Amino acid sequence: MSKRDYYEILGVPRDADENTIKSAYRKLARQYHPDVNKSPDAEERFKEVNEAYEVLSDTEKRQAYDRYGHAATQGGFGAGGPGSPFGGMGGFADIFEEFFGGFGGMRSATRGPTRGDDLRYDLEITFQEAVFGAEKEIEVPRLEVCPVCQGTGAEPGTKPIRCPQCHGTGEVRRAQQTILGQFVSVTTCPRCNGEREIVTTPCSHCRGQKRVTVTRRLSVSIPAGVDDGMRIRLAGEGEPGERGGPPGNLYVFLHVKPHPVFQRQENDILLELPINIVQAALGCEPEVPTLDGKMKLTIPPGTQHGTVFRLRGKGVPILRSNRRGDQLVTVRVVVPDKLNEKQRKLLQELGDTLGLDCLQKDTRNVFEKFLDALGNAFG
Ligand SMILES: [Zn+2]
Ligand SMILES: [Zn+2]
Repeated sequence: MSKRDYYEILGVPRDADENTIKSAYRKLARQYHPDVNKSPDAEERFKEVNEAYEVLSDTEKRQAYDRYGHAATQGGFGAGGPGSPFGGMGGFADIFEEFFGGFGGMRSATRGPTRGDDLRYDLEITFQEAVFGAEKEIEVPRLEVCPVCQGTGAEPGTKPIRCPQCHGTGEVRRAQQTILGQFVSVTTCPRCNGEREIVTTPCSHCRGQKRVTVTRRLSVSIPAGVDDGMRIRLAGEGEPGERGGPPGNLYVFLHVKPHPVFQRQENDILLELPINIVQAALGCEPEVPTLDGKMKLTIPPGTQHGTVFRLRGKGVPILRSNRRGDQLVTVRVVVPDKLNEKQRKLLQELGDTLGLDCLQKDTRNVFEKFLDALGNAFG
């Protein structure tokens, strides 16, 4: 069945402005409202008029309709979709407001299952725990279904009764006389809030709230290799759902305390190792700290400042693998800044024997490179 053109339904030109569309709609809505017009096709026409107005009164929907025709509206815009008399009524409500001066409680009277909220827990762990993993116990306060009334909110031994106001339907109908005739509005029952029953004797444990705050001990498995800012999801450990909905999740956010010695760069461990000029010149075998304990490192004679030694596999375990990063040891050659007379003399003697040859060679290289660079830049 082909649908009629919305502009045709409202009897307005395609370039009609907002006010023209609105007044055309008001006129037709009055004419075809099923409570006013008793002819057999009135309801059908009324729906059609509403659907057309819903689309043409909304700039975005109207643009989509102008471009794509009815195909633009096939997906349905609102909860009830186009044409539904009580749902997805973009423009419908504001007309009613004009008629009745407010039309509160248009939300659906009955409510379905709702998923529980997610919870966040911030957990501080040590550097070591992040690297090698750990089992941690945490205490999480969260709302749980009241164990005494099982979530009914009624004192054990008593039963919620059928709501007397809505007779257990969860919604109330209100008939209003207007110049257009009688209108019936359906709203959520204010007495039972749409729950269909009411509690006469509230549970003394939860005071009728149906839920109580319970602090739960949970254990969290922290895998080896986690890093600061990561989070662990504990499925279903959030707040309980409502009306049979599933619970939310608990997210444990990890905060890793810095280590006094080690620095971490992804899965590598960075360590600075200070040695003195003699150790650098003659070589040495210092013990260096690693995640697995002390380890002997061989520094060969003539090691320069800034040299990096890589200790393979001594870094942080890589998540979900059995490999590990490396430890990178950067040598910092420390020049003594205080010398006693004897040390000064020894260094002086050393200096006399070294001469300035090695330094001059280096300096010359640097100077030549500098000139080369200039030549390239200006040449
Ligand atoms: Zn209770
Ligand atoms: Zn009720």
